[in-house]
Parts: sequence; structure tokens; C-alpha cells
Amino acid sequence: MSIVNARELLIKATQERYAVGAFNITSLVQMEAVIEAHIDCKAPVIIQTSVAPAKFLGMNVLVAIYRTLAESAPIPVCLHLDHCTDVAYCKKGAEAGYTNIMVDASKQHFDENIRQTKEVVDYCHALGDISVEGELGTVGGVEDQVRVVENEAELCNPDQVLAFIERTGVDLLAPAIGTAHGIYATRNPKIDFERFKKIFDLVNGETIRTPLVVHGGTGLPRDYVERFIAYGGSKVNVSTELKHVLIDATYQYMNAHPKEYDPGKIDRAVKEVTRQTVFNWIEWFGCRGKA
Ligand SMILES: [Zn+2]
Repeated sequence: MSIVNARELLIKATQERYAVGAFNITSLVQMEAVIEAHIDCKAPVIIQTSVAPAKFLGMNVLVAIYRTLAESAPIPVCLHLDHCTDVAYCKKGAEAGYTNIMVDASKQHFDENIRQTKEVVDYCHALGDISVEGELGTVGGVEDQVRVVENEAELCNPDQVLAFIERTGVDLLAPAIGTAHGIYATRNPKIDFERFKKIFDLVNGETIRTPLVVHGGTGLPRDYVERFIAYGGSKVNVSTELKHVLIDATYQYMNAHPKEYDPGKIDRAVKEVTRQTVFNWIEWFGCRGKA
């Protein structure tokens, strides 16, 4: 099973009401830690990179590592390109071997969002078994290419959802409902759950057609995550937390061992803390044993 796109993983997850974690990574150590934690729990997983690490490390390098790890893993593993605002780069990601592409034209007018999303969908579907995620409305906070102020974030309009899906043929939808990237300014961020549920019910009846994606997982309380899953969300993105874990574990290790010059030990420390963090999310998502 190993190398899969996101669509097939998420339709099953939506039907059975659990979520698949989509973890943003910037290094080999993180990718290994996330996949190994999911192997331990027999859970499906989505590895994702935003555009900056894809450019820095090289998509071909990332895909080669992904394929090597995923092919020997007894669980399904998807590789997703996150928040790509450049249609040409989305196509490059698909060509390189990413199995799910997010084209983020959410800052564009509705018709232009449809045009760009459809162009990526048509390309990916013609190229192979590659699914595509689109966004309607704007997720708050900071993603490497995309910056918006949280209170200016514009939520997804349910009246546009069906037309967006029908005209683009998009496989997954990320509706903006008040979640944000980065660290939430408050412990109880204002999330429009009713809007999320309404969108889910509009799009998916008895048959699950278009799985829904929740961005900005870092910092959401457990009951929020469980409510999203109950309302039909099946992909939850976690990015900021893994960045913090990597940096904090590195500092802690170096402070505890100031005279040691063995980078492998820092990697092992980062890997272990990352695994523990991922185990926690797997419990929240209810995806243990679902692979
Ligand atoms: Zn996002």
C-alpha cells in the first residue's frame, strides 16, 4: 500500500470518522520520526512540505527520501505539497512525485481561484494518481508564502462551495473556518464549527465525495479536534508544533551537552521528541490501527 494519494486515505477516514495527520516537515529526521511513529501505531499518514523547504532541499531529493521510506513502510504514506500559490510549481511537484498537491489560490477572486485550481486538477489527474486540495476563504496566520492578519481572515462562504467543487473537480477542500497558522493568540480560538458542519453536509451526503481539511492544527484543544472529526474533517495539518519541537529539543540537548560535538546525538534527541509529539496527535485523531 505504502505510496498513496490523499483522496483514498481520506474518504475512508471520513466514512469511519477519524482523521489522518498531515505533518509538515523540513528535515529527513522529522520525516523518519513521523513515519516511524505511524508504523508503530499502524496508522496512515500524510507527510507534507511547504514550498520553502521543497525549494531549499529540492523536490527530487524529498521525493526520493519519501519513496524510500514509504515503499518499505507497512502503512499508507502520502506526500503532500502544502499551500503552493504558483500553478507552475504545483505541476512541478506532481511531476517530481508528490502524491497530493495543494494549490492555494484562495487570495484570488472566486473565478480566478477556480481557474487556477482547475488547471492544477486537470494536470494532476492527467499525469497520474495524484489528488489535489483547494482552499476557499483564507486561513489566518503565517504560512511561508502566505501572510494574512488573523482578524482580517475571510471565512469560507458555504454558498460558493458546491460551484467551486463542481467547476474545479478538486479532490479535497480546505474551507477557512477560523483556524490559523502559527501559535494561537488565545487558548480558545474562535472557530466557526457550524459553518464547517454546514459545508460538510452540503458537499457530502450518504456518499463521501470531497473530504474536508483542517489547517492550523497546532494549539487546537483536543475537544476542538474531536469536534472537527465528528463534523466530518479528516485531514488535520500540524506544522508549527513540529518546528518548535525541533528547535527546542536541539537547544535542550546542546545546553545539556555543551562540550559534545556529535550531531547524530542531536538528531536522535529531535527524533525521539518528535515521535512522542506525533503519538499524542495519533491518539487525538483516532487513527491508531487504521492502516
Ligand atoms: Zn495551512
